[in-house]
Amino acid sequence: MLLALCNVAIAQSPAAIGYHVQLSDAHAHTLRVRVDLPPGAAQQEVQLPVWNALYQIRDFAQNVRGFHAHDAGGRSLPVEALDKTTWRIGNAEQGAELEYEIHANLGGPYGAQFNQEHAFLNLGELLIYANAARGQPVTLELENLPKGWQIATALARNQQTAQSATFFADSYDQLVDAPIELGTFHQTSFVQDGANYQIVVDAAPGDYQMSSLSSLIGKIAAAEVSWMQDRPFASYLFIYHFPRQASGGGMEHANSCAIELDAGQLASDPLDLESVTAHEFFHLWNVKRIRPASLEPIDYAHENYTRALWFSEGVTTTVAEIALRRAGLLSEQQFLQSLAREIRTLQLRPAHTWQSAEESSLDTWLERYPEYGSPERSISYYNKGDLLGVLLDLEMRRVTHGKKCLRDLFQWMNQHYAMHHQYFPDSAGVRAAAEAVTGADFSEFFDSYVSGVQELPYQQLLATVGLRLLRHEVEIPDIGFDSVRNEGERPIVVAVVEGSDAAKSGISPGDTILKLNGKPVQQEIGVLLASLHPGEVVRLQVAGLKGTRELKLKLGVRQEEQVEIADLETITSEQRARRGAWLVGEAEK
Ligand SMILES: [Zn+2]
Repeated sequence: MLLALCNVAIAQSPAAIGYHVQLSDAHAHTLRVRVDLPPGAAQQEVQLPVWNALYQIRDFAQNVRGFHAHDAGGRSLPVEALDKTTWRIGNAEQGAELEYEIHANLGGPYGAQFNQEHAFLNLGELLIYANAARGQPVTLELENLPKGWQIATALARNQQTAQSATFFADSYDQLVDAPIELGTFHQTSFVQDGANYQIVVDAAPGDYQMSSLSSLIGKIAAAEVSWMQDRPFASYLFIYHFPRQASGGGMEHANSCAIELDAGQLASDPLDLESVTAHEFFHLWNVKRIRPASLEPIDYAHENYTRALWFSEGVTTTVAEIALRRAGLLSEQQFLQSLAREIRTLQLRPAHTWQSAEESSLDTWLERYPEYGSPERSISYYNKGDLLGVLLDLEMRRVTHGKKCLRDLFQWMNQHYAMHHQYFPDSAGVRAAAEAVTGADFSEFFDSYVSGVQELPYQQLLATVGLRLLRHEVEIPDIGFDSVRNEGERPIVVAVVEGSDAAKSGISPGDTILKLNGKPVQQEIGVLLASLHPGEVVRLQVAGLKGTRELKLKLGVRQEEQVEIADLETITSEQRARRGAWLVGEAEK
């Protein structure tokens, strides 16, 4: 279904490496991998990535069993482990067959999983590459497919039988940028503006509506394609998982994305689905094609350090919200409330006075550690990057009297970098784009707010669209402990206030908060507390060293700053016109 024209020629050129993945034992979550290395040097090094999908070192070699090599005649070849994830194959002049088993049981968009229900394969977590041949064409054969299972992927397909399917890609990088969903999923597709959109859903049928999902995707895709005035793909695949358990997240790829949302969350807050879909889809430009130089070439064996995630992630969210407004899925009021929440989130984190947006990007590799998530230690490049995107948009409008905006910056970067297959030089490239588009100097903006930690100029720039920020102290419920929560996981307690009800009831740092008032906790505790009141008694289910236990706590009270965005007392016609254009992400006429 996804056979692009440009791939036909590639299919005919010889593959450097042939991968064969046998779905061998669903019960044990085992895949059996055979890799055909072509003739080459006598000594060939192969590696399994240590990270993929998430910017976190996860050492996938931990799942590899029984790695060995032999020649075409079945004679053993020498294999030497060079480090935890690299092997050297000897006597490989005539090529070699490498074999290993790999355990795959991590669900979600960042995982690789094979069980009796389905398989979702991020191939970078499963397949080794040859150091000398990463840029060569590859083929992939999936074997031993369970009866009745279908396959969805953005990879180009050669052939398929009931039990196997073969795919090809023009490099290892391209291969592992297209996850594969296998199972008895539901699917639909539609054509819009000449492109094919395929939607695949792995969920209980009653937990979602395919027709509304399809209509939602049509609106978001139309909004983003028209905003960019570009559609650099013939086909795009959305893979959704809606499990009935705490989960969440999305992962972008060049021609597909994988999104997971808890079915309960999906029912209670449909805006989550819209936001994550708009965000992952816009990544097909921002990060996949408009790509920071620091992320290339991908170093699968070590961290790729980048200062640009504030732009590649945070400003992707800025644009996703523009797209939702253009698509009629987010009202002005909802947008301003969400903007106020983002401002409050940043301002309440003490680390915003010393960790810059660029440093937060560099430190993405620390996000797996709970302590790193504490407000005193870090800010989020999603959060500050989103705000920087909003403010950069307003500043571009201010210095050009409304004639240029963030849309022009993205179209400029798309034309000057993506379309020429060039990577942009991180923050300096964004600044250069802003300056090229507006003709103004953006050094102060970038020095103060992107690489620096000056307080962001909310009031000054919101005033250009007739708005102001109001701050006031309110009394909010205090639960007596601080917690941090990684995407898709439950909150973990990092500090407990001495003398609080939480301390008295034995909550300790390291405890995981499973349930609040009987419901699984799928958000930050602070978000859940917003609907409760000081003095109220809450029931918690907590797991930790003391086992899993049920506790009752009386909420205390504390003062906290609230943030609200409101109209200026008098609004000029220029401010009103600027606001109208800003809300739909366009320059003024
Ligand atoms: Zn993202």
